[in-house]
Amino acid sequence: MSHRIIVLGAGYSGAIAAGRLAKRLHREDVAITLVNAEPDFVERVRMHQLATGQDLTPRPFAEMFAGTGVELKLAKVTGVDVDHKTVAVVDENGAGQLSYDTLVYALGSGWNTRGVPGTAEHAYELASRPGALRLRERLARLGAGQRVVVVGGGLTGLEAATEIAEARPDLDVALAARGELGDWLSPNGRRHLRKVVGKLGITVHEHAAVTGVEAGRVALAEGEAIPAEVTVWTTGFAVHPIAQATDLRVTGAGRIVVDETMRSVSHPDVYAIGDAASAMGAGNKPLRMSCASGTPMAWQAADAIAARLTGRKIPKAPLGYFNQCISLGRKEGLIQYVTSDDRAVRAVLTGRFAALYKELVCKGAAWGVAHPTLGLPVRRHRVTREQVTSGEAVRAVA
Ligand SMILES: Cc1cc2nc3c(=O)[nH]c(=O)nc-3n(C[C@H](O)[C@H](O)[C@H](O)COP(=O)(O)OP(=O)(O)OC[C@H]3O[C@@H](n4cnc5c(N)ncnc54)[C@H](O)[C@@H]3O)c2cc1C
Repeated sequence: MSHRIIVLGAGYSGAIAAGRLAKRLHREDVAITLVNAEPDFVERVRMHQLATGQDLTPRPFAEMFAGTGVELKLAKVTGVDVDHKTVAVVDENGAGQLSYDTLVYALGSGWNTRGVPGTAEHAYELASRPGALRLRERLARLGAGQRVVVVGGGLTGLEAATEIAEARPDLDVALAARGELGDWLSPNGRRHLRKVVGKLGITVHEHAAVTGVEAGRVALAEGEAIPAEVTVWTTGFAVHPIAQATDLRVTGAGRIVVDETMRSVSHPDVYAIGDAASAMGAGNKPLRMSCASGTPMAWQAADAIAARLTGRKIPKAPLGYFNQCISLGRKEGLIQYVTSDDRAVRAVLTGRFAALYKELVCKGAAWGVAHPTLGLPVRRHRVTREQVTSGEAVRAVA
């Protein structure tokens, strides 16, 4: 009898966790199942590239996990019962149920309309591949001079607006930010951002509180409006409602609350990682939804699970930040160095070199999914006899 580990979601964090668990644990002792709705890995960090007509490298999971010992199950997760330790799924054969001994929840996130009226009906999103493809198709149909308004002045909004303006210089691109443009960046970072945004001809609406999206315009507070043939909504991410419907302890936004090992604080056989989890980072500040957080969270969860199952000391993954890497189109970029708790410091890297740096970071993130132990040789450890699965002892001891 082997210990059943189910990983839900094969995005950056889930795919890394599954692959790393397979590298750390002996194949005869564990059955690792990775459940994902789609058959290939989606590089979410490149969705603005996909939306502007660029083609991304296909990354089928069947190739990525061939020979690793991870079993891929193509299915949509519809619910989790943490009391009975089951996951409800729907696949091509209909509804089914999977049982686990340890669950890793990594279902990621989607766009966040923040309840602003008209957003779901009239705005486009690029937090998901279907959303990015829909936007791609719409942008392709726009004619010269037509207006695209990107709502949201955060990292995704900056990347989206600059990518669209660079790819389609014939369009009239605007960015609506709640505060000042790049107000969290260092003075050097802000200066560079303004320079690039100006060169690309992007109109910036600062202190713009968007109160609604309508066909053909974005409504602002105090009755003003920005005309928009296409509105792109990028005001942060929201998690899927599955965790909130369970008995797991979640935040008000539905993210699973975890300890420093990524283990649920309410259910010790559940781990959560990536955007779906609420974990504390350096300075006791919550980690933000990002690949930059999701990757070390995945390392930490996989190593903690493996350590607990094999009776070893739990190693600590570095959960601090180092830089924010922002693409500003394909030819420009901004690398803003930060403290471990994500506050901008003076140093920045700009220009073509920064664009190349960011490209390498994106490539590295995808490489990291296929090489979850960073290519380092590892020894698979045996699960100890004390670890029980549904009342049955796991066979084999080191
Ligand atoms: C345009 C854009 C640019 C970004 N740029 C950066 C960046 O430069 N740096 C950075 O750090 N972060 C960036 N991010 C954020 C980053 O992409 C996310 O934080 C990251 O993808 C989260 O990883 P995850 O593993 O938690 O979830 P995801 O990558 O979202 O993966 C979740 C997986 O779960 C699957 N799934 C979801 N629901 C179900 C279900 N019900 N059943 C089965 N499977 C399901 C999905 O198909 C997916 O494979 C960017 C995001 C976007 C949209």
